[in-house]
Amino acid sequence: MTDCTFCKIVNGKVPSKKIYEDEESFAFLDINPFTEGHTLLIPKEHYENIFDVPEKELKNLIGVSRKISETLKTKLKCDGINILNSNGKAAQQEINHFHIHIIPRYLKSKFKLNAENVLKEKSLDKSFKKIREI
Ligand SMILES: [Zn+2]
Repeated sequence: MTDCTFCKIVNGKVPSKKIYEDEESFAFLDINPFTEGHTLLIPKEHYENIFDVPEKELKNLIGVSRKISETLKTKLKCDGINILNSNGKAAQQEINHFHIHIIPRYLKSKFKLNAENVLKEKSLDKSFKKIREI
């Protein structure tokens, strides 16, 4: 897509700090990192979200996520890794080109994922029934 920032990054029209590239995927440092080494991994092809990405490419992307995680752990000596992916406006997807956040975590860092608004435990039964009925 011509107006997609991530497509422009893949095509070199927007500069990025490239971490990894293969035939199908491309990874670069997030310009608004949560922590040192926060990386975005994308398919080179434009897909809006997980509902559009072919399964074969998803499998490649999760394999690459692991490779990048290993590199970040070795090079940055992080203590853990978050792998996050947002799909749709309700999930706070801001760029409509499928991307996986690979976020190194450090025991000494003050950064925390926010879990203040979790649902109450009794709602689990209702959710479980709805999901299992599909
Ligand atoms: Zn795109």
